[in-house]
Amino acid sequence: MRIVKILLVSVILAGGAAAARAGYSPDFDGGIDVRVAIRAALESAASAGGLVPDVPGRPAPEHPVWVSLEKSEIGALDEALFKGLPVAQNKRIAIYEFDDSELGRLADGMRRSFRRAPGFHAYATLEAALEDLKEPPAVPQRAYTVDQAQRVKALLAQVKEEPIADLITTLSAYRNRGYRSATGVDASKWLQQRWARFAEGRPYISVAPFKHASFSQESVIVTMLGSREPEKVVVIGGHLDCVAGYGDRPAPGADDNASGVAATHEVLRALTEGGYRPAKTIKFIAFAAEEAGLLGSGEIAAAFRRDGVNVEGMLNLDMVNYKGSQGDIYFVTDHTSAGQNAFLGGLIDAYLGYAWGEFKCGYGCSDHASWTKNGYPASTPFETLFKEHNPFIHTANDTLANSGGNASHAFKFARLGVAYAVELAK
Ligand SMILES: [Zn+2]
Repeated sequence: MRIVKILLVSVILAGGAAAARAGYSPDFDGGIDVRVAIRAALESAASAGGLVPDVPGRPAPEHPVWVSLEKSEIGALDEALFKGLPVAQNKRIAIYEFDDSELGRLADGMRRSFRRAPGFHAYATLEAALEDLKEPPAVPQRAYTVDQAQRVKALLAQVKEEPIADLITTLSAYRNRGYRSATGVDASKWLQQRWARFAEGRPYISVAPFKHASFSQESVIVTMLGSREPEKVVVIGGHLDCVAGYGDRPAPGADDNASGVAATHEVLRALTEGGYRPAKTIKFIAFAAEEAGLLGSGEIAAAFRRDGVNVEGMLNLDMVNYKGSQGDIYFVTDHTSAGQNAFLGGLIDAYLGYAWGEFKCGYGCSDHASWTKNGYPASTPFETLFKEHNPFIHTANDTLANSGGNASHAFKFARLGVAYAVELAK
């Protein structure tokens, strides 16, 4: 008994030192649970000496993943998922360790209870998840101007509906685009090749995958290098993956979110074929693994922050082709930049004349949250008011036919993307 005790104390001390080296120190004033320190110590000891960390009431996950979610929402979700205590928590947010295979069930429960998805952030490491218990870096306030009328109008004339519908059709023809499915990998590879065509004969454009260590679907990044201030970056994108329920089921994901990728594609196409080169760099990104807890955008935005990338703004396009509300475009007001949202509303008024509104979406609602969390101004213009969105998403019936059979709604978002790119990357 005595030997065990001494061993445990030394394990905690040794592990604690390792945890401190890894950048974690418990912040008791912030209300972080002491279990974290013990857990970090045990984990670090485990990696050194084969000790298996123990979460009471649960078997150790085969493919561990750490999830942050709002504590107030847990009561409405599948109790069986939350058998163990949280690994760490503060007043509002709890971190749980799951097996990767449980994320689908968690996301499905979120969608059923709160009509949003995923509704949580997931991470491949505990260290990354613990960041969510801290105050995020402040998003800088910036001044926005709208003064590129001639150029914006010329490029808006390049935006077409047909290429958007074509891309939705191609992407939704994959059996599904799950972030762990073979067809989800294929869809990402196909998009890389499709987008590489924009780089032909344009040396300032390049296409590269962003590889994720814990799953096989790659995010896709097109970089359009700025001519005057290339170190300043504007990001436009949406998630490539999709699901229907959970598991490897057929999921066309035409609206959620082939539509957002297709609108991103059309911004890229209209700008390049319109002969435009920005002063600042624009990155067009198709994110992997959004439905599994914003995994793809979470890793990319954190990498950008780590590398000190100066992202001036991020536009997230997620579900843009189902016209279910009276107005045209609705901005998510929480976990987004109020300043940038107002700028986008101003762009609609100045150039597009659409009716727009706003709504609150909640925690971990879409990829904008990953960018906001890393201190970047982000916005999500959405297809409807919150409760009026496409009822077919996350089913085998999320088809183009069930979004009206055309891309007339997504067309508006592609036009907004063009105005945003030109007025922000100038
Ligand atoms: Zn989505």
